[in-house]
Amino acid sequence: ASGSDENDVVVIGGGPGGYVAAIKAAQLGLKTTCIEKRGALGGTCLNVGCIPSKALLHSSHMYHEAKTTFAKHGVKFDNVSVDLAEMMGQKDKAVSTLTKGIEGLFKKNKVTYVKGHGKFLSPSEISVDNIDGGTTVVKGKNIIIATGSDVKGLPGITIDEKRIVSSTGALALTEIPKKLIVIGAGYIGLEMGSVWARLGSEVTVVEFAPDIVPSMDGEIRKQFQRLLEKQKMKFMLKTKVVAVDTSTDIIKMTIEPSAGGDQTELEADVVLVSAGRSPFTSGLGLENIGVETDKIGRIPVDSKFSTNVKGVFAIGDVIPGPMLAHKAEEDGIACAEFIAGKEGHVDYDKVPGVVYTHPEVASVGKTEEQVKELGIAYTVGKFPMLGNSRAKSIDDADGLVKIIAEKETDKVLGVHIMCSNAGELIHEASLALTYDASSEDIARTCHAHPTLSEAVKEAAMATYDKPIHI
Ligand code: FAD
Repeated sequence: ASGSDENDVVVIGGGPGGYVAAIKAAQLGLKTTCIEKRGALGGTCLNVGCIPSKALLHSSHMYHEAKTTFAKHGVKFDNVSVDLAEMMGQKDKAVSTLTKGIEGLFKKNKVTYVKGHGKFLSPSEISVDNIDGGTTVVKGKNIIIATGSDVKGLPGITIDEKRIVSSTGALALTEIPKKLIVIGAGYIGLEMGSVWARLGSEVTVVEFAPDIVPSMDGEIRKQFQRLLEKQKMKFMLKTKVVAVDTSTDIIKMTIEPSAGGDQTELEADVVLVSAGRSPFTSGLGLENIGVETDKIGRIPVDSKFSTNVKGVFAIGDVIPGPMLAHKAEEDGIACAEFIAGKEGHVDYDKVPGVVYTHPEVASVGKTEEQVKELGIAYTVGKFPMLGNSRAKSIDDADGLVKIIAEKETDKVLGVHIMCSNAGELIHEASLALTYDASSEDIARTCHAHPTLSEAVKEAAMATYDKPIHI
């Protein structure tokens, strides 16, 4: 392979961080090779993360809507049922089409793709155990580590990906569990819990902390939990998993209050462990070249994504910062730009976060709790979706928009949106934060009618003045 010639850039890992960095580097005229061990590009996100989960969220939402709301809209049919194999097939097709699409982008941009596991021999030499056998040495003036993250297990619980599953197994169950226990109320647990609850599973979410999605604005979080409870998801917060017994047909889980106390037992057909993700550097040979990692295994980098070893960079889930695909992509672009001698820029304070349940919850910037803690004087404007004509017209009016602005200047500090398509609506807020806009700037921007986005405008009006429609 031409991967054995000297490259300007070698990227280890073909996830959203790595493949985007490789394409950008090639676009900037640098000779680039990307090494990926999975046999498919797109990383966690495309193969076992963002994309398959969104495919199943959409399919399960359609089923749930067909069962629960179509009749109200005058759309009637006699029988609705789930063909799980077909549903999984649709998801798999989406994944494989997109994966091949990235291979196409590599060809178009002349990125060399080496399939295998990469390991540092020196700061400029990577030995690759090829998937098809044999070993190749790939050389590069600059190396970008984009090896991402992996499922974090829990002590004493063995994941078999059949009955005790990680998110990967939860995306590929062959039967709808009657009872599903989700350990961990982060966004992945809630999204996967939603999928199976919609398809008919009785879902219980067990969480050690007192709250679901700890990064979320408190007020939004409370309403969000209530809406999920209305969808029949059960929450056991401040609860610790003590033991999981899989010796019988029904899994038995022993739990106790996080603070200690009486133990009780729960039963399940399937248990999903979604207690977070860990940076992945296993078998990478970091020790061979002296790249440092922190206490939890992340690779610290400077403002130009350089590790402590010259010529070796790191991006995405394997470095500190939000563990999200779009953040990894931004890292990848900026890192390639720095290597090419240009300027790059990523602002981790303005990375939007989205939970793709129904309704979706999207946020960017600071929560009210964070603003309070920083001692900033602030104003809050809120607008409920009940006052939004589009939401009412489609009978999908759960949720609200909340904007937090600096009292003195009206500068927008944080925006939190809970409604259908909140993940699409959030970007005008991201832009507002990027340009240091005020809530009045958003309110005086003409928004099309009737759209859900008008709720953002009205929340902005409520921040510095008064809304019209509530
Ligand atoms: P990864 O995507 O993990 O890619 C790293 C790649 O490197 C892997 O393919 C791995 O095989 C390869 N690799 C590792 N070591 C080596 C080696 N030594 N040699 C060769 N190759 C190697 N994020 C969002 O923004 N939105 C979402 O909706 C979302 N949903 C998610 C749902 C689930 C169920 C999960 C698990 C994650 C989700 N995420 C989501 C998170 C997202 O997937 C990650 O933040 C993102 O994939 C990180 O990108 P990355 O490029 O840093 O790493």
